[in-house]
Amino acid sequence: MGQKLRMGMVGGGPGAFIGPVHKMAAELDGKIELVAGAFSQSAERSKAAGISFGIDPERAYASYQEMIAAESRRENGIDLVVIATPNHLHLPVAEAALSVGIAVMSDKPATATYDEALVLRGVVEKAGVPYGLTHTYAGYSLVREARALCASGRLGAIRKVAVEYLQGWLSKPLEATGQKQAAWRSDPALNGPGGCIGDIGTHAFHLTEYVTGLKVTWMNAALRRVVPGRRLDDDCNALLRLEGGATGTLMASQVAAGEGNGLRLRVYGENGSLDWKQEDPNRLRVKWLDGPEEIWHAAAGYLSAGSLAVTRLPGGHPEGYIEAFAVLYREFAEGLIAWRAGKAGALPATLPGIEAGVRGMRFIERAILSDRTESWVEF
Ligand code: NAD
Repeated sequence: MGQKLRMGMVGGGPGAFIGPVHKMAAELDGKIELVAGAFSQSAERSKAAGISFGIDPERAYASYQEMIAAESRRENGIDLVVIATPNHLHLPVAEAALSVGIAVMSDKPATATYDEALVLRGVVEKAGVPYGLTHTYAGYSLVREARALCASGRLGAIRKVAVEYLQGWLSKPLEATGQKQAAWRSDPALNGPGGCIGDIGTHAFHLTEYVTGLKVTWMNAALRRVVPGRRLDDDCNALLRLEGGATGTLMASQVAAGEGNGLRLRVYGENGSLDWKQEDPNRLRVKWLDGPEEIWHAAAGYLSAGSLAVTRLPGGHPEGYIEAFAVLYREFAEGLIAWRAGKAGALPATLPGIEAGVRGMRFIERAILSDRTESWVEF
């Protein structure tokens, strides 16, 4: 490939968490370069971030509207926008970019509410421009392997799923201290109505459907606000029913004191099971009804082609969160280039997109309804 794709970022200002991760991941494979941004709601802080990212200061804008207008006029304007802001801005920024033909790579959740997600789907369809969603965990090579294993049928019919996503960082009322990440996440106007269920429950839900290939059909969820004064849920337990008769549990918590980023998925079939943990991402445990437990290592020659295709280093050289993120960016970049060349269906099915986004928002909406009515709800 000749020139790199030019990326503009919204969010990722001084002190932000995920914006700088997007830059690292997007640039890892040499296909994309950050050249512009509206990094903060403050013009001054946006400039400061632009300087720290080493971009042309003229291209650090005071607002996303200004960035999209100015970049659309440039001959070498941006090819894609990455959205790394609090959730309430995901729809308006995506809409502004897509409507002028600029591709979008958005962080999750797709929007702040389910109704907004339906609007966004209409916008994506009308624009016909590539849209990707960074459900990061879909980029791990052993998650791809787990997906291939389920699809191969070797585990047999899937009967049970246990997914958990446990964090402890909101065990105290951190939002009351003004801590940036906690403050907007506990404000329904900026975050949307689902707290923990939206922030990390959506990742667990996505991983479940992504790996098993089965859709969740029914759910009975209980959401709690454990920390006094907190406005949104911080702890969730849900029972699931999936296509084909499997059942499951989904546990998500941000008040599990001592936990870091404890995402774990176990899938049980008739013949065997798999067990993957995000904090130990280069090992996949596979257990058989009639055989010994196996530990499959990332990058090992016996893995599927789809898993090896997203591995960068020889076995034993750990890859992690940033590399997984970068896999999604690489797929997006290749898809965007193919789309420009007029190829239909340019984005691969392995890359989460608008349908995963709508599904995730449906999950949040259903969980809140189930909790409120104390009943099973259908998807
Ligand atoms: P953060 O608070 O650290 O960063 C948000 C940034 O957005 C800040 O720099 C803020 O100044 C900026 N911002 C706010 N309003 C803006 C505006 N009007 N214009 C431009 N910038 C604006 O939050 P975060 O933890 O980085 O989360 C951001 C998003 O990323 C959220 O949607 C979150 O759900 C998602 N996220 C995803 C993952 C993942 O694994 N994929 C991990 C963390 C966060």
